[in-house]
Amino acid sequence: MPPKKKNQQPVKVSSAVVHPTPIELPSSEPILTKEQVAERLLSRVANFRWLVLRWCCKVAKDVLGVATMKEFVCPKCNSLVDQPKKRWWSGWRYCPNGHVLYVRGLGPSLEQSFWKSFLKGLAPAICVFLLIVFALAAAPDVPPRLRGSMAPSTGFVVAIFYLLTGLSLLRKAHLWAGRSGPVQRLVTHARGRAYGFLAAVACQLGIIIALLFAK
Ligand SMILES: [Zn+2]
Repeated sequence: MPPKKKNQQPVKVSSAVVHPTPIELPSSEPILTKEQVAERLLSRVANFRWLVLRWCCKVAKDVLGVATMKEFVCPKCNSLVDQPKKRWWSGWRYCPNGHVLYVRGLGPSLEQSFWKSFLKGLAPAICVFLLIVFALAAAPDVPPRLRGSMAPSTGFVVAIFYLLTGLSLLRKAHLWAGRSGPVQRLVTHARGRAYGFLAAVACQLGIIIALLFAK
């Protein structure tokens, strides 16, 4: 008799505990229809895919970053920066002393060959110039009296802008060439870009003169 009583007691307790759960479970399960379950699963899969994609992007960026990692030169400190920090809001790199590693008219302060830099200066400058000039020449709402002179005069302003940028880069290159140290590595880059701009200015002046004569 005593063992039966002992057996009965745990059964009662366990039944008291087990009972609420079978009631709760059926009540919570019918809320989700098959479609809702499928929807949840799909959203989870989508989340997972998104995470994987983001992770892949990050890895690819890191790998490519390592593969194409070059040494930045800080022109202000006159030193090499092998692991520049990045500002999270602008994406600009900066040296340990807080100087931004970009040069106006030049881009990232990296070493670059003369001709690569030259083409990078020449091609965009001519493209920008042609876009502006032809947009103005084809603009329908320009008064007829100004139509002939509007495009060449604006083109002239653009050409002067590139001329000044090129000259300031030449001056920078000249200053850097006079300093000893890692900043010398930027001289070729700056000279190439400066001569690219100046060559673009020559082309732009040619186009302006052609436009003036075509009038
Ligand atoms: Zn610096």
